Amino acid sequence: MSTSTSNSELAAAREALRQRQGSGARYDSSAAPARELDWARRGTAYFARVLNETSDSELRNPSALPGWSKAAVVAHVGYNARALTRLCQWARTGVPHSMYASAEARLAEIRRGESLPPQALRSLVHHAAIHLDVEWRDLDDTAWDAQVVTAQGRTVPARETAWMRAREVWVHAADLGGSFRRFPRDVLNALLDDVVAVWKRRDCVPDVELHLRDQDCTVVLGGGGPSVTGSTPDVVRWLTGRGAVHLESDGFDLSSLPAWL
Ligand code: ZN
Repeated sequence: MSTSTSNSELAAAREALRQRQGSGARYDSSAAPARELDWARRGTAYFARVLNETSDSELRNPSALPGWSKAAVVAHVGYNARALTRLCQWARTGVPHSMYASAEARLAEIRRGESLPPQALRSLVHHAAIHLDVEWRDLDDTAWDAQVVTAQGRTVPARETAWMRAREVWVHAADLGGSFRRFPRDVLNALLDDVVAVWKRRDCVPDVELHLRDQDCTVVLGGGGPSVTGSTPDVVRWLTGRGAVHLESDGFDLSSLPAWL
């Protein structure tokens, strides 16, 4: 009697977990990039919260990303999830799927998405994120290491999609009206590393010393030299091209940073 009760309790708990996890009803494989997936999922929740706090009429306003309306940012984040879903499908099936047909097609899609009715835009980004999460849970140990090609033409293992998504949802949540100050410290540090890695690939690392006041540490870029001091959120906001606020510069032109993505 007590056994059957505990069994049914267990089944109920399992079913509740399945409901919370969505339609995939699976766990991540043991080879999944757990830390980056956690950042992506928390960032998705943060993006959803900021979007919830954005009214339909506010969606027509400019975002913090120069030249982009908030609606365009939302459409982009939705289509980015679909594009990363295609990379995961590639990894899972071995059949190549590119993120976007072309750079022009990517922009045309965002422009179309931007003009969707607000409710359609909200469900686009919501459903695309769920679909991506289902794909992630469907990747087995081998698929996480399968090679895929990003929109920038880089060949990377599928596990890279977790970080690619994490940086999109966090930074675009800030573009939509959120704040870098709400980002977890480890996400900020990973963003800093990402910006520097992108610059290294393009051979355009500026010579500057970053003093992260809250972490009491200095990051030397290139040959060092002039310094920029601020809190980690403010420094990372600036490095990602979202404006220089509350920063102190000792001889470095704050408007002279190379672009990130
Ligand atoms: Zn983006």
